[in-house]
Amino acid sequence: MSVRELVVLGTASQVPTRHRNHNGYLLRWDGQGILFDPGEGTQRQMLRAGVAAHDIDRICVTHFHGDHSLGLAGVIQRINLDQVPHPVTAHYPASGQHFFERLRYATAYRETVRLAEAPVAADGPLAVTDAYTLDARLLSHPVESYGYRLTEPDGRRVLPERLAAHGIKGPDVGRLQREGVLGGVTLDDVSEVRRGQRFAFVMDTRLCDGVHALAEGADMLVIESTFLDEDVRLATDHGHLTAGQAAAVARDAGVRHLVLTHFSQRYSDPAEFERQARAAGFDGELSIAQDLMRVPVPKR
Ligand SMILES: [Zn+2]
Repeated sequence: MSVRELVVLGTASQVPTRHRNHNGYLLRWDGQGILFDPGEGTQRQMLRAGVAAHDIDRICVTHFHGDHSLGLAGVIQRINLDQVPHPVTAHYPASGQHFFERLRYATAYRETVRLAEAPVAADGPLAVTDAYTLDARLLSHPVESYGYRLTEPDGRRVLPERLAAHGIKGPDVGRLQREGVLGGVTLDDVSEVRRGQRFAFVMDTRLCDGVHALAEGADMLVIESTFLDEDVRLATDHGHLTAGQAAAVARDAGVRHLVLTHFSQRYSDPAEFERQARAAGFDGELSIAQDLMRVPVPKR
């Protein structure tokens, strides 16, 4: 069975708190694992969340501030220590190549795993697999920051009533699906497009075109809401979003499940983020992220 879920490893911006680790998110997408923005302490959070180094196929870093990348050193060494048998690919802003290299080679260890460096220098597709296409879009933050988006290819859903109308049943259904046509009836005649699922990951940014483009039609949007709405000036000045801004993006984009995260340590009550997101008119599923939370990608 295919599992698609977000495993939240950490949710704090800037500094960890007693209850929140630095950022870290693992997206399980069928058999694949994509680790986003491993902040400091990610290796231990993985242990607590039941995520193994073997689960990681790809690493996506939005930008090189410590709360999104200091964990690279530990995670990369762990991938090598555990001799992960498959290659791992890392994406990060090309302008931070020197940061990536420092973190990758922060201390001595034995390299056993093929880790491909695939820096991001422009908007567009980074990888195409059977399960998804991975795209990046530039965000707006004091250091160069890219958001990421997974798009599953569209499929086709066979409609029983149309099969019946054409008198197709039994093994003929499979034959039509394999061959695309049967006795003059095409697969299109008896099926409809089943839109592929979409997942978007938007970290440190103020509102910009990239935020909206990444969020558009997402089944799940994981997005920073560092600040509450009363601190919108601070948010804009430092290149961040408020809860209300993030929720308004999700509302306009038709997001089904919104995950707010990356909270400033200045706030003590997570429920206020939820209140402000609802006040902004977002009425889909809403999660205020907590460390070690698991959030299933909504069913198609
Ligand atoms: Zn941050």
